[in-house]
Amino acid sequence: MAINILNAKNMKDIPSHSLPEHIDFALWNEFQNSLSNLLGIPIALYNYDGSIISPSNIEDSFSEFIKAQTEKGRELYISSYKKAITKAQQMTEPFIYKCYTNQYIFIIPVNLNSNVSTAIIGGHVYTSKEDFNEFIKGAAGFGFSESTIRELEKKLNIVQPQNFFAKPPVVKEMAVPFLKNLYLKSFYEKKYYQMQSVIEVTTPGLLQEGVKDMYTHIFNAMAVLFDVDTACVMERHNKATYRTVAAFGRKKNLISNWMLSDSHDAFKRLTATKKPVDCHDFSEIHKMGIPEGISSVNIFPMIIGDNIFGLLGIFNTKIPTDSIKLLALLANQLSFVLESVRADHHIKKKMKGLASLEEIFKTIAPVLDQEELHNTILHKAAELVDAEQGSLMMLSEEDMHLTVKASKGIDRSILENVKAKIGEGISGTVMEKGTPIIVKDIESESEPFARKNRSRYKTKSFVSIPLRVGLRTIGVINISDKITGEIFSEEDLHLLLSFASYASIALERGEYYKMTEDLKKISVTDSLTGLFNRRYFQERLFEEMERAKRHNEPFTIFIIDIDDFKAINDKYGHPAGDEVLKRIAHTIRDAVRSIDVAVRHGGEEFSIILPYTTKANSYVTAERIRRSVEDIRFVGHKIPPDQIFSVSVGIAEFPSDAVNIEELIDKADMAMYLAKARGKNKIVGYESNFKT
Ligand code: GH3
Ligand code: MG
Ligand code: MG
Repeated sequence: MAINILNAKNMKDIPSHSLPEHIDFALWNEFQNSLSNLLGIPIALYNYDGSIISPSNIEDSFSEFIKAQTEKGRELYISSYKKAITKAQQMTEPFIYKCYTNQYIFIIPVNLNSNVSTAIIGGHVYTSKEDFNEFIKGAAGFGFSESTIRELEKKLNIVQPQNFFAKPPVVKEMAVPFLKNLYLKSFYEKKYYQMQSVIEVTTPGLLQEGVKDMYTHIFNAMAVLFDVDTACVMERHNKATYRTVAAFGRKKNLISNWMLSDSHDAFKRLTATKKPVDCHDFSEIHKMGIPEGISSVNIFPMIIGDNIFGLLGIFNTKIPTDSIKLLALLANQLSFVLESVRADHHIKKKMKGLASLEEIFKTIAPVLDQEELHNTILHKAAELVDAEQGSLMMLSEEDMHLTVKASKGIDRSILENVKAKIGEGISGTVMEKGTPIIVKDIESESEPFARKNRSRYKTKSFVSIPLRVGLRTIGVINISDKITGEIFSEEDLHLLLSFASYASIALERGEYYKMTEDLKKISVTDSLTGLFNRRYFQERLFEEMERAKRHNEPFTIFIIDIDDFKAINDKYGHPAGDEVLKRIAHTIRDAVRSIDVAVRHGGEEFSIILPYTTKANSYVTAERIRRSVEDIRFVGHKIPPDQIFSVSVGIAEFPSDAVNIEELIDKADMAMYLAKARGKNKIVGYESNFKT
């Protein structure tokens, strides 16, 4: 291997950056090797600290030979790379330079994010005999003998300059987007799974286990996900101090009695910004009242609404910037769970004979869909106090009005367009003040609420309670008409208030689930098959087209549709159909090159992007796909081994068949349909004489 000699040990004086750990290195390596083979030059990927990430598969026998010959040669070889890496750190654009052997080397810096920088290094090419002679003149200094030099001369391979200089741009065009996509894809996927486990861990289902057990769960999750060394949860002790209530990890004894007072800067910053703060300064940490043995502190506020409910402290742990947000979210999740626990205790005390809130909680907790959540909450509230009618109104942030989100006993259509201004009417007043209203007899109420009872109400009594999260009011629940015809009691009001404190948490929590849903959308893979998804396809297609235009190069796409797939579903059932989809997807992926992009288009349709490939050259690949799908057999499965599968493939080329993305997909689609019409299990390339 030509350029894998460097490692972090050789590069001590270069600052270390964190490795792009998320990247699927195997996939990158495969890509890198195909590119090396394609261009006939060594290519390798380095971390900015000089450590090798992915060594080249092609050897530059010349450098290998020098390195192996003398100690001096080895030293030179190493220092030459060291120089290259240092240079790469300073440059943002690709550059080419001559190394100590006078061979050309190119370096392409790739910044994956602010923390993760890599460089693609390749080349090792002589473009003239003169460069070699020049090197040889000084070679005696390395202690090379006559015979060594003759040996070197044998290994000499001169590449035409124009030939070599065309290669780095190709590497850049192909490898940089590939690496970035790989990084983004795995980054978001990893984050998504991290997020999911965090939410699973903090899910209020843990209520029954008690707070202490829950803390242990959370710490274990943090230890695994973020490599946390030591952590603590702090609760508000009094107005000016937070106190550790649970400590975990290696140095837990050091922080188990820690108190953070409001006089400290970190505390002030935290309360002012409600954002996480960190401290790595020894004397600062000491001033915080933390004993020796702790070298870094990260504090995350646990916020509900505008309230800082508690703090999550993390110690002696290097937290990558990407993870800070996630941990902040975790801290918030934690506060919701704690608040739920409190609400539960509170209500348990209040309503002795009644079903515990835990039961209601269990009904609400799994509800993630906001609309369903609104309905469940309203119906549970009404049930709690035996009421027949009610409505749930939420504040819309856009126009700052209350709108009806759920109703019971009242035709929803009546309420659909009802909007209440903050401060106006009963709901608007409850919203503004954040305090509940209980009315025994609407007709004898004083201003501003006094009014004739509306005919649709049976009784003249109702309650209206705010949904509050911390100091913020997010909505209002109105409840009226007790089934018994009685007026609402103070007891009813208390019950509803306790319930509301819980319901608000569930509502707010829904927002966090929405965030994970958003993260899911960022994902670029299809969850069933692991192939790239349609979103990624669109992006890549656009990039591919831009690149093809710039370099005046063609590329080709396939549209692949499984033949008679409906019949497979009908015969063996949908789950078996999914198995087939997976199998065919993997077969397709295995049949294409690593630079080709395999996509599940949705349903049972796939696409392939084949960069640098003409339609004429792509038939081989299409035929390989067609044949390998035909060869698929299920053994010992619900699907019998004699069940044969096939696909129809349509091909179109850019730019000869189409000049934009839509047209290209259309043409490939047309070709695919023609393949179906011609009897399926066929490959058809688009021709301009197709009838449209
Ligand atoms: P043709 O040869 O003309 O393509 O016939 P076909 O039966 O494959 O017809 P078509 O492409 O119109 O039907 C696609 C079927 O694929 C319909 C749908 O039930 C099934 N399908 C789509 N997505 C999925 C999926 O995710 N899982 C399963 N099991 N089936 C799916
Ligand atoms: Mg189809
Ligand atoms: Mg089909």
